[in-house]
Amino acid sequence: MTDRIIEFLRDRRQNGLDDGPCMVLDLDVVRDNYTSFARALPDTRVFYAVKANPAPEVLSLLAQLGSCFDTASVVEIQQALAAGASPDRLSYGNTIKKERDIARAYELGVRLFAVDSEAEVEKIARAAPGSRVFCRILCAGEGAEWPLSRKFGCVPEMAARVLEHAHRLGLVAYGLSFHVGSQQRNPRMWDGALKSSATIFRDLAERGIHLQMVNLGGGFPTKYLKDVPAVKAYGQAIFRSLRKHFGNRIPETIIEPGRGMVGNAGLIEAEVVLISKKADDDKVNWVYLDIGKFNGLAETMDEMIRYPIRTEFDGDETTPCVLAGPTCDSVDVLYEKDPYFLPVSLEIGSKVLIEGTGAYTTTYSAVGFNGFPPLKSYVI
Ligand SMILES: *Cc1c(COP(=O)(O)O)cnc(C)c1O
Repeated sequence: MTDRIIEFLRDRRQNGLDDGPCMVLDLDVVRDNYTSFARALPDTRVFYAVKANPAPEVLSLLAQLGSCFDTASVVEIQQALAAGASPDRLSYGNTIKKERDIARAYELGVRLFAVDSEAEVEKIARAAPGSRVFCRILCAGEGAEWPLSRKFGCVPEMAARVLEHAHRLGLVAYGLSFHVGSQQRNPRMWDGALKSSATIFRDLAERGIHLQMVNLGGGFPTKYLKDVPAVKAYGQAIFRSLRKHFGNRIPETIIEPGRGMVGNAGLIEAEVVLISKKADDDKVNWVYLDIGKFNGLAETMDEMIRYPIRTEFDGDETTPCVLAGPTCDSVDVLYEKDPYFLPVSLEIGSKVLIEGTGAYTTTYSAVGFNGFPPLKSYVI
């Protein structure tokens, strides 16, 4: 929460414009985050993961600061280009692409693609001949609050074969990637994947294929309720692992921060619509907000991301509350298994501030489920 955001919200209210929840994002925080990444990992190139928040102002600022961009679709490629990034600063990092989208990316100048299967390599060899490819390896996502499971990547032995296939088809077998799981609170979790990467580098070198790059993915956390280590601690742990596994032949590296770049730059202001109980002796209050899973807070799924919530009554006595969204869908409950303690003095109509909401909120918002408009976004 920054003074600029608080001032913006005050002006909005004074001008009678507070007609629904909104996310306000402070670009100064994004600038600071970019600088912290650049300092903590000085030899690593930053590819901002566009999906975390593709607001044009965010992309333009990062393009000016020298960032590269990790994109997952043709539209994201176009958004990054429109923000001023040249195509040599883009990667098409989704391992699941239609061949015609690969062709379109190639036309737009993109030459760096992610793969995790031989079938995807074949598409790229046809639609983007001569490009660089990196193969994603599976990563358990242990210790992450938002693990990415088994959807992306392949086992290390297969990765070597996928890259060999790429080499055979005239592509540049450029390197490896992995993602340790989003909101990864343990800086040592990069070690295992770097160890596997070094083994694949050696195996392929013996077969005459010299990989150059390791893509360290995202996973850098935002502070929600629990404390998280500083970016510097991640930089140090990663560098130690690179040294340990690659010796003095450290490859080129890139990172793809999403949440860690924009999460703490944004704040959502929402309103209490109803406070009620289900029975006279109910132990919890039900607090319904005008924001829920369908208009910005999708990451409360399975109560995985627990956002800090501020109210004007902070400091008063608190009571356990089930927190829910406004729609008529019963999954639209934010925290119930682990109730949220909110002030007893909270009232219908009170504003609440939900912190750390600059990443994965606006774009996770449905177009108009149940008539609730998508989350408004202001970038200041
Ligand atoms: C989503 C995504 C990221 C960003 O992850 P964060 O945990 O938000 O930093 C990075 N790389 C890829 C390939 C992604 O899909």
